[in-house]
Amino acid sequence: MDIRFYNTLTNEVERFEPVTPGQVKMYSCGPTVYDFAHVGNFRSFLFADLLRRFLEASGYDVSHVMNITDVGHMTDDAAADGLGEDKMQVAARRLKEDKKSGKVEDGAVENPDDPYQVAEYFMRAFLEDGRALGLKVAREFPDRVPKATEYIDEMQKMISTLIEREHAYVGDDGVVYYSVESFPKYGQLSGNTLDALRVGAGGRIDESDQSCKRHPADFMLWKPDRKHIMKWDSPWGAGYPGWHIECSTMSMQVLKTEVLDIHTGGEDLIFPHHECEIAQSCGATGNDLFARFWMHARFLLVEGEKMSKRSGNFFTVRDILSGKASGAPVHPAVLRLELIKSHYRAHSNFTTKGLTDSANTVRRITELGQRLRDECDDKPAEIDRTDHPIVRDFLEALANDLNVSEAMKAVHAFLSSPGQDAAEAYGVLLALDHVLGVWELTSVDSAADDPESDIAANLCAMIDEARKARDFSAADSHRQRLIELGYEVRSSAEGTSATKKFA
Ligand code: AMP
Ligand code: ZN
Repeated sequence: MDIRFYNTLTNEVERFEPVTPGQVKMYSCGPTVYDFAHVGNFRSFLFADLLRRFLEASGYDVSHVMNITDVGHMTDDAAADGLGEDKMQVAARRLKEDKKSGKVEDGAVENPDDPYQVAEYFMRAFLEDGRALGLKVAREFPDRVPKATEYIDEMQKMISTLIEREHAYVGDDGVVYYSVESFPKYGQLSGNTLDALRVGAGGRIDESDQSCKRHPADFMLWKPDRKHIMKWDSPWGAGYPGWHIECSTMSMQVLKTEVLDIHTGGEDLIFPHHECEIAQSCGATGNDLFARFWMHARFLLVEGEKMSKRSGNFFTVRDILSGKASGAPVHPAVLRLELIKSHYRAHSNFTTKGLTDSANTVRRITELGQRLRDECDDKPAEIDRTDHPIVRDFLEALANDLNVSEAMKAVHAFLSSPGQDAAEAYGVLLALDHVLGVWELTSVDSAADDPESDIAANLCAMIDEARKARDFSAADSHRQRLIELGYEVRSSAEGTSATKKFA
């Protein structure tokens, strides 16, 4: 099958072939764990998940890494120079407010002044949301989900190499900067030129801030800061790394390669984040290329508008799942389908109507899955998972730059006429679902012989026990299990309760 993807680096749809035949190494920028993830974040994460699952279904062995940014992501990162304040510090302040308002449950973070605890809390929340929504990489924590704070030595090594190779320098303010002029290809990914950046690039570069920099677009690699709680000793003073160097380091370290096959993120990361990653990685390795394919998801809109706290259309995944956002709980499979079902390069629009449509599709898949599973006694036929005509139509649509709406047509055609042979049809459903990840999330609810309410009650009791023993990670994992089973979980002073939800 000819796989073609749009590559932001070349602005063209190109034929995809990995460096090593049969193996794909792919890196996705993960969350900055300073708040609960919102549906827009998960639009980008699930786009990467869809891509990964499609490549797996097409026969590739995929290593997918998604990082956790738990230090160094500044509030003014758009300026490319590490201005502003570390988002983790801001989060610590905000968490105190959230505790007061009850948004964060009591006891979850003992000391909100400790950014490590804050990061841990929101990282767990991200993993919980990710697992609930079928984000495969979230199940591969910690191996495939590295935390920036655990790769500081490697980052320092890369910074030293960049200094040795004269791609980086220590400014008069003691900050280590990357010199964009040392890297002639800087701007290739985003279409920026250094001259344009110098005159402001639409206000992205702060000209007034160039005193210690050779070029206003030079960006921070290491910031000495004795006052920052998250700081590490370094040849350039105790401090912390820049956000961009984190991804250059973790991607190459965890994937054990200098050249990635695919790098993904949301469209806002093209500049400066990914432009800077290329400059750092190529600067340090001397290679011409850092990632062969750069793929970016367009921003998710809510009812046609940009999501923002100010316009009140800002939804976290947990608000949607619990029903807090709309008054009715939404099954994770419904939210998953809603976030993956439109093309990643189109501005997808998150709407109530869309959720209702997705809920109908999820219901149809689930009902068919239950019927077929019962009819074939849970023994699917071993179909050819790439060459069965229905699966082939589905995969061929996705091979065309992840044309998911075409692929959904194949799914709907199958739902309307799944064929007479239940075992074969169940095999097809499972093959399609390897990519869709819907039945995978709803089938646990429907396992007929599962004394589910007992399981739920037991898990609630175990959560309460763990909370009493202050073993929050055990409590989290029991809560996670309940969420995976499709329950909404509430803990209060009276204890924990779980309610079944299905949109
Ligand atoms: P952050 O946690 O801010 O570092 O963002 C995590 C990921 O979410 C990045 O890949 C962003 O590009 C992506 N992202 C943020 N907002 C949206 C949105 N509205 N639609 C799609 N992706 C988004
Ligand atoms: Zn990144």
